[in-house]
Amino acid sequence: MSQALLPTYARADLAFERGEGPYLFTVDGRRFLDFASGIAVNSLGHSHPRLVEALTVQGAKLWHVSNLYQIPEGARLAERLVANSFADRVFFSNSGAEAVEGALKVARKFHHASGHPERTRVITCSSAFHGRTMATLSAAGNLKYLEGFGPESEGFDHVAFGNMNELRAAITPETAAILVEPVQGEGGVRPASLEYLRSLREVCDEFGLLLIFDEIQCGMGRTGKLFAHEWAGIAPDVMALAKGIGGGFPMGAVLASENAASGMTPGTHGTTFGGNPLAMAVGNAVLDVMLEEGFLAKVERIGKLLKDRLEQLVAANPQVFEEVRGAGLMLGLKAVPLNTEIVAALREEGLLTVGAAENVIRILPPLIIGEAEVDEALGALERVCARFSKTSPGGAA
Ligand SMILES: *Cc1c(COP(=O)(O)O)cnc(C)c1O
Repeated sequence: MSQALLPTYARADLAFERGEGPYLFTVDGRRFLDFASGIAVNSLGHSHPRLVEALTVQGAKLWHVSNLYQIPEGARLAERLVANSFADRVFFSNSGAEAVEGALKVARKFHHASGHPERTRVITCSSAFHGRTMATLSAAGNLKYLEGFGPESEGFDHVAFGNMNELRAAITPETAAILVEPVQGEGGVRPASLEYLRSLREVCDEFGLLLIFDEIQCGMGRTGKLFAHEWAGIAPDVMALAKGIGGGFPMGAVLASENAASGMTPGTHGTTFGGNPLAMAVGNAVLDVMLEEGFLAKVERIGKLLKDRLEQLVAANPQVFEEVRGAGLMLGLKAVPLNTEIVAALREEGLLTVGAAENVIRILPPLIIGEAEVDEALGALERVCARFSKTSPGGAA
């Protein structure tokens, strides 16, 4: 491994050369079924012909002009996101953390512009993940990631995920917003109950707070609806998107209602790269595919099938897996042995997954998979279960 890279990642000893649909191929020709999707990013798999075409056509025309000028593809993508969500306004960023930062700025500015400059604090949840910038780390409040990086960003109050009593008790006259992931990803694939999401909406309306959803991981079709909060029949005021929205091209977005965005006047926020023509062309192509008739219904159907099969696997292998969690194609298996060992063993069996907190293995396939890929993944999982059952001291052997 190269000494030239800052060693912040414990990387697997694998280098991929090429991808095709749900598969990745190494330099030495080995094939892997990719149920990690670059951490929920390759929403349409690898080398999707529509995305390749959008990228290469745009790549030959124009890459970057800056936000000093009109970017028609970006205006079109914003209009389509607005037409398919609660939102009226969109700001494009390059990453998830930037989208969360943008969402936080929208919320604070809203109160400032509505005569409540004292309302700056944001309530966030335990085991959340919102990114790796200083403000988003402070928002999530995970001490493991904050340690050693000096003073935290001020203005976040942390409460237990799912606990409405704690949340209500944390509201003060300085509270501006509540920031929640409808399905926690890094935190261990923990879906909020639909009741909790509805109560968040109610409490925000009651106290004049803005509701911000971080759908960076659970949005863009991952749960079988375009946005995970749709399952609860409510809408946030502001939402952060990234990961799957670009299908592998780096991009993020802040979506907001007209009211919530009312403080964001010219000059109040900006980005050099965000919303560039290349990203916008790919983003439109991703949306073209996701909005096709039946696409999301298929994600829901295959997600249910995969979850059923995983539940059978867990029932048959209680010494390896404790539980299945999640919705759609955002699933988690809580492991009994160390999740990192299971992820490594699955990799040896040709299946890529990704770890999360609470000793969970995240299963985040591209949204284009069908029954054949479910069968293939279960085969690898069953082989790994057999290996761990034999070696586990409490196992049958
Ligand atoms: C990945 C993620 C982020 C951060 O996105 P980056 O693109 O890595 O900055 C924020 N929130 C959630 C829920 C995520 O899953």
